[in-house]
Amino acid sequence: MDEKIKDLLKELPKIDEVMLLLEKRGSFPGVPRDIVKEACRSVVNDSRQKIISARNAGAVQMPTTEEAANTVGRFLDGLALPRLRRVVNGSGIVLHTNLGRAPLCRDALMRIAEVARGYSNLEFDLEKGERGLRYDHVRGLLCSLSGAEDAIVVNNNAAAVLLVLNTLAAGKEAVVSRGELVEVGGEFRIPEVMEKSGACLREVGSTNRTRLSDYENALNAGTGVILKVHTSNFRIMGFTEETGLDALVALGKKHGVPVVDDLGSGCFIELDRYGLEREPTVRDALATGVDVVTFSGDKLLGGPQAGIILGKSAVLQKIKKNPLNRALRIDKLTLAALEATMIEYLQPEQAVNNLRVLRALTEPLPPVKKRAGKLLAAVKKVVGTGSTLSLKPGATLAGGGSLPTCEIPTALVCIRPAHMTASALEARLRALDVPVIARIADDEVLLDARTIDEEEFAFIREGLKTIFADKGTHGAGKSRR
Ligand SMILES: *Cc1c(COP(=O)(O)O)cnc(C)c1O
Repeated sequence: MDEKIKDLLKELPKIDEVMLLLEKRGSFPGVPRDIVKEACRSVVNDSRQKIISARNAGAVQMPTTEEAANTVGRFLDGLALPRLRRVVNGSGIVLHTNLGRAPLCRDALMRIAEVARGYSNLEFDLEKGERGLRYDHVRGLLCSLSGAEDAIVVNNNAAAVLLVLNTLAAGKEAVVSRGELVEVGGEFRIPEVMEKSGACLREVGSTNRTRLSDYENALNAGTGVILKVHTSNFRIMGFTEETGLDALVALGKKHGVPVVDDLGSGCFIELDRYGLEREPTVRDALATGVDVVTFSGDKLLGGPQAGIILGKSAVLQKIKKNPLNRALRIDKLTLAALEATMIEYLQPEQAVNNLRVLRALTEPLPPVKKRAGKLLAAVKKVVGTGSTLSLKPGATLAGGGSLPTCEIPTALVCIRPAHMTASALEARLRALDVPVIARIADDEVLLDARTIDEEEFAFIREGLKTIFADKGTHGAGKSRR
């Protein structure tokens, strides 16, 4: 190492001195010394790395002991702040996987608090006074609402698919159409999950056309399952042919092979009644006589993250006995929320209103427009002179691998900021205490009123007020303290 750099490194604050200073200040009482020391080490080390990797080491700002202690202070303060936080979703995507998909309904939140506060009968049969099954709490509801014989719930739909395939097709072949080898959200790829399940993928047909005969020709003594996968997040248009679930079920029966349908989004509402594209309901799927269906709890269902497995008792008994089930089991908070969510569906009209995902998808345009107008009025005074505000028509997407071709008309509040670019404003909104997630088009920041609740207006108004009060001269990513 060059001598000049060696000399510079000697001038770095000493870890012990930074520690001593923090102790003198009385910072972080009760925080274990090891944690503070590690933070000091990491801060000093950052400066060391900066000097070593700088093109011109002499130009690197050398922190004083004071400054290093302040940095350590900010770091440790930051550790105690929740990093998982609520955000306002103005993005125009109702089921945004990166924004936590479905918000929970009020009753689900209450039930979580109630069940988690103390002990619960999670796996305790209160009638018999003996061990019970955790999914028994939602089994009755799920079966009544769908017509299924039995139900299991696991951690998410990826886990559900893994568990079902592992139970029915480990060491055997799983027959699936080439047009349905989907990838959902970058991490979930049907072929990869199949491999992990121990099932051997047997692709049939072509990307755009798969006929019943393609499935039939693939069946043999080593076939474990026929799998249908909902092409959740895309559509193949034009010259296409897909074999319906009915036909696959008949084929499975004829050959004694179970048929599984990965529905992706579990829909319990006739969406076409609300002017949306028809999405086959869970009941529709089960009515075909399919052995098993799986779907997510936090997509169109509007509940917590979960993987729901419904179907014939005989098959579900096998799945329950699979040791993998234990590794994928659902927790009590989720179960409490799922139960409350399913109760909403006993009154579908009410579910459409109380479950925010369904409300966002089905709300008629006039009230959305009205809300956008109110939002515009609420932020008018705070966006600073020179900025322009307007209302524009736009389109909301369902997202989350649901209704991929559906664009729902909406109203957008558009902000063209003075003194900063739209992307600077978008970044500042993201950096707020309660971050507001917006999108940008044509140098404007757009807030979709369909996914914003009136009770969230205050966050947007107060956020914009702080941003425009210091005219956005600070960059994005500003500390939130
Ligand atoms: C979303 C989806 C999954 C994965 O579900 P998660 O609940 O996210 O694990 C699996 N299959 C299909 C068809 C999907 O759309």
